[in-house]
Amino acid sequence: MLTLHNPLHHLHQGRHEMFRGHLVPCHETAQRLDHVLAELQRRALGALRTPALDDAALDAALAQIHSPRYLRFIEHAWDEWVALDPANAEHDALPSVWPAPGMRRDVLPESFAARMGLFSFDAGTPLTAGSWRAARAGAACAIEAARAVSAGAVRGAFALSRPPGHHAGTDFFGGYCFLNNAALAAQALRDSGRTRVAVLDVDYHHGNGTQAIFYERADVLTVSIHGDPRTEYPFFLGHADERGAGAGLGFNLNLPLPRGTDFARWRAALCLGLDAIRAFRADALVVALGVDTFEGDPISGFRLRSDDYGQVGRDIAGAALPTAFIFEGGYAVAEVGINTVNVLEAFDAA
Ligand SMILES: [Zn+2]
Repeated sequence: MLTLHNPLHHLHQGRHEMFRGHLVPCHETAQRLDHVLAELQRRALGALRTPALDDAALDAALAQIHSPRYLRFIEHAWDEWVALDPANAEHDALPSVWPAPGMRRDVLPESFAARMGLFSFDAGTPLTAGSWRAARAGAACAIEAARAVSAGAVRGAFALSRPPGHHAGTDFFGGYCFLNNAALAAQALRDSGRTRVAVLDVDYHHGNGTQAIFYERADVLTVSIHGDPRTEYPFFLGHADERGAGAGLGFNLNLPLPRGTDFARWRAALCLGLDAIRAFRADALVVALGVDTFEGDPISGFRLRSDDYGQVGRDIAGAALPTAFIFEGGYAVAEVGINTVNVLEAFDAA
């Protein structure tokens, strides 16, 4: 396993997120990544390095997945926020107004608050002084992980980065995510000559951004196993009847499961997902690796135990594909390192 870790992740340090009418401390913290990195080092699981992608190559890759006006906004949002009032530097920027269906999305508002809403879908994702730089370096980790496995240098590579990515769409942030790392990895695999790329999202929450990005494409199969959106975030996407559209019809598979699902039932869904990836004849795999499926996760509702994650890694290895793992959720901070590395170590050993 080669791990690309984000040396700038700590620049993104949200102070608060909106939760049930209160500003509460962010669940998505820098300590999460530190625990995974420490566990990787403790178990000596292959090489660890930081990304070396140059700015021009990274910009070109970002522009393949995200819209120009969204990228421009995110890059400059913090400076705009502080320019409104220097005292804003002491507060994270959070959106509070959004366009409802039927309202205009084509006219770019001048108001900063309006653009925050136009380019987001929740108030749980604080934009901070270092969010752009951290997210950008994280995207580089994902792209380099994909390139490494495609070149055959390693069978598996791990992009250890935060903020996470799978909720971010072409032109919106949300769910703690700004740039869609899994989508960037999938596109990097396509660009390196892989013809049929599968994305397997095992985070507790539906990978709505990844699904939306590839929804009308037949060259990238998206599979997500997640909490049923009727009760679980992100609520408005992730149902079983979403199968893709246009050329992409049949190339999206959602496997929603009820809150409280244990490993036996979850693993049956994983096997269905892997069967679909086999039937698709994928020649490369991206795994959006969230471990908020853990029984002790504070914001999720499945019941996987630490030992179960080894089986997850073995099952994924059974697909026998070059595999780029992308770090996503997992908020039981003390166990996030153990659970994540259990997947990777078992993958490597299989
Ligand atoms: Zn999640």
